[in-house]
Amino acid sequence: MIPDNQIIDGFSRVHDYLRISLTERCNLRCTYCMPEEGIQLRDRKEFMSGEELIVIAKKFVELGVKKIRLTGGEPLIKKNIDQIIQGLSNLGVELAITTNAVLLDRYIDLLWDNGVRNVNISLDSLKADRFNSISRRNYFDRIKKNIGLAIQHGFNIKINVVLMRGVNDDEIIDFIEWSRIEPIQVRFIEFMPFDENNWDWNSKVSQKEIMDQVYSNYGTENIIRLEDEKNKIARNYMVTESRGSFGIISSITNPFCDTCNRIRLTADGKIKNCLFSPNETDLLAVVRSGKIEDLKPLIIDSVKKKKKYHGGIDSFEELKSDDIVNRTMVSIGG
Ligand code: SAM
Ligand code: SF4
Repeated sequence: MIPDNQIIDGFSRVHDYLRISLTERCNLRCTYCMPEEGIQLRDRKEFMSGEELIVIAKKFVELGVKKIRLTGGEPLIKKNIDQIIQGLSNLGVELAITTNAVLLDRYIDLLWDNGVRNVNISLDSLKADRFNSISRRNYFDRIKKNIGLAIQHGFNIKINVVLMRGVNDDEIIDFIEWSRIEPIQVRFIEFMPFDENNWDWNSKVSQKEIMDQVYSNYGTENIIRLEDEKNKIARNYMVTESRGSFGIISSITNPFCDTCNRIRLTADGKIKNCLFSPNETDLLAVVRSGKIEDLKPLIIDSVKKKKKYHGGIDSFEELKSDDIVNRTMVSIGG
């Protein structure tokens, strides 16, 4: 019998990591995540309030969730971010955030004082013009400054770089050089297909291509393979005598589905049991109907239906982003 205080799917994977999207909105417009014109804005009433979010998060924690990551859209533009972070910090779980860092200086103390130590920051180029063109805004200098501030503050910083062929794949070594002089972990993320992001099979850069560049630049003898952490999705390496390290997240060509422990809660209160799954379970409607006792069985049931790999997508090779029946990444919560 499946215990009722844990979230386990049909493949015995225990789900104890919840990623909550705070908003579908963003102050950037990264090409791989969001259409240029933004996404259709919906009435605020369609999204979880701070109180509703805490009620739902609490149920997940009662079901064994040990880590919550805030994401979005851009989580730091959420109006009542302080109330949400304080509320979540009372739940006794590890709290983390993924942000574009545009507003990080404003909220750095709030995060630190509420126990957040792990901050993932997206930065897809070290060249100002190129970054501003990918993100379709002009915040490069501010983001670089805020990354420096966060490092000084003592946060564990991971830098997320979505590698796209012909766009920024010539910066792999530059990013690794950065990880040699700063205590950061650079993570090269394989470009993934979502609604309206112009993905195709050839636009991603695989783990093999990255490592070919790395070995030819540094020599195999100077690259150390680091031990994988439990349930972690990156394969990690460092160049000898570096302050930081680098990792590769190749969700498509070398997936980590076998050990997946992640559940996503969208800003409009729906569970997605996999990034690639179009199926959703509406928890916000349940909270609003006053039937809080129904939340736990619904969560358990939703994850039980999780597919073994990639939300049931058999092959990406012939796939185009227009074929995808899913949300844009910005409205899923990455
Ligand atoms: N706005 C925050 C940020 O950019 O860090 C949080 C939300 S963003 C959707 C979360 C992560 O998803 C980012 O690191 C981003 O680079 C990644 N991401 C978005 N679209 C992606 C795609 N098509 N393929 C791979 N990663 C993607
Ligand atoms: Fe915004 Fe993050 Fe998506 Fe870029 S990746 S558009 S910063 S949500």
